[in-house]
Amino acid sequence: MRFDSHVVRLLAAAEQLVNALTPGGDRGKPYDAPEGRDLRTAVETALRSDGYAPRVTAAQAERFLALAGRLREVFVAADASDLTRAARLVNALLDETGPRPRLDDHDGELHLHFHGSDPELYAGWAPGVAAGLAMALGSDMGGRLGVCEAPGCDRVYVDASKNSGRRFCSTRCQSRVKAAAHRERAKG
Ligand SMILES: [Zn+2]
Repeated sequence: MRFDSHVVRLLAAAEQLVNALTPGGDRGKPYDAPEGRDLRTAVETALRSDGYAPRVTAAQAERFLALAGRLREVFVAADASDLTRAARLVNALLDETGPRPRLDDHDGELHLHFHGSDPELYAGWAPGVAAGLAMALGSDMGGRLGVCEAPGCDRVYVDASKNSGRRFCSTRCQSRVKAAAHRERAKG
């Protein structure tokens, strides 16, 4: 199954919100959740795309922070192949945020979009992200939500590779693990 760009964008937003807002390890270094102005900037950056650059209030940023923690749990459950737990988490998000599917016409082509009940920033994004994850988990994309396997890293990713063989958040983590394996071999 191939997703249209809307769902891909929602999954990318989920990935970026988790990676920017949740503490843990980032490519070998401890990562603290941003606060204050940094938190607002992190949310703005995670949601930004071509021609779209939202301004985020402190109150909205706090809501995205809470959402990101719950999104991380979905990636962790999917990564562990615990699809029952992933489904429970996403269903709770769907219940709370109430996405409304709608067909939008783009130059004569119909696209299925998920909107919120309210154009407000958080109320618009949260249902969309919940719906995007639901679409992924309800299709053969479910196994493509992952958590980086490299030591000192727990950033998440959506695996878009052809063979769905991705294990790391970044080429940096992939190289770190390769280099460590190489050193191990050289020692032995
Ligand atoms: Zn990583």
